[in-house]
Amino acid sequence: MRIDLHCHSTASDGTLTPAELVRAGAAAGLDVLAITDHDTTGGWDQAAAARPDGLTLVRGAELSCRWHGAEPAIALHLLAYLFDPAEPLLAAELIRLRSDREQRAEKIVEKLRADGVPITWAEVQEYAAGGSVGRPHIAQALIRAGLVGTTTEAFASKWLGARYFVPKSDLDVFEAVRAVRDAGGVTVFAHPRATVRGRVVPDRLIVELADAGLFGLEADHEDHTPAEREQIRALADQLGLAVTGSSDFHGTHKTVKLGAFQTAPEMYEKIVSAATGVPVLG
Ligand code: AMP
Ligand code: ZN
Ligand code: FE
Ligand code: FE
Repeated sequence: MRIDLHCHSTASDGTLTPAELVRAGAAAGLDVLAITDHDTTGGWDQAAAARPDGLTLVRGAELSCRWHGAEPAIALHLLAYLFDPAEPLLAAELIRLRSDREQRAEKIVEKLRADGVPITWAEVQEYAAGGSVGRPHIAQALIRAGLVGTTTEAFASKWLGARYFVPKSDLDVFEAVRAVRDAGGVTVFAHPRATVRGRVVPDRLIVELADAGLFGLEADHEDHTPAEREQIRALADQLGLAVTGSSDFHGTHKTVKLGAFQTAPEMYEKIVSAATGVPVLG
């Protein structure tokens, strides 16, 4: 079984529509694909409607979270699977996160414009096309304006990485774990050791999160070194957590291919067995 549990579509900052994503998953030989857009379930219905026979669809999201145990607080991502999207608390939080993304992206655009960068908020909104807006959409405007050549370049410290960085408000990570559980879903800590993205959390937070109901850790991810993947496996083993692997596919906003990293079938089965919010489709 080929299982990829972390993929983005145009419902957030991927470049394939949800329908194209599930078709591309089948074409890449996947048996299971999870759609996990940032802070939204907006792609679920289109992905479900276009799901090819033979591809199992796991509906999920990647939640923008924050741990307030460090000063300043550390941003992190939680993958949430198979939760009930109608559960009021979680649904309200997703709306809040997306609206904060809009305000934050607009502030970043204003900062860039104040320095004479010729991009507009309307243009960025057009790239986001009604989905969760993120820095990759601003990167697209910077590429169009000829200021950078690639998305990765746009994340350098002189651009979106630091100089024009504005934080999001995000969701407290413990509240997120609880809200997803209360909605019948399962949480997996996405790329927990991805130092390329900034500061990472200490092991003691992962221990606390395991106590609070976190279900798993994403070990196999392009942003982890082989040594980091092993450390995560050992920690998961020690804490009784599941481990996953996934591409974190973003279409042409990243170079990684669908199925580049995969989750073992027994880990996938564990996730499915633990979730009660919505069923897998397929
Ligand atoms: P945001 O959610 O708006 O803070 O933007 C973060 C998103 O940008 C991540 O989910 C990645 O998809 C993408 N991203 C972060 N760092 C990089 C990078 N160095 N190069 C390309 N994409 C990145
Ligand atoms: Zn992304
Ligand atoms: Fe992420
Ligand atoms: Fe992601």
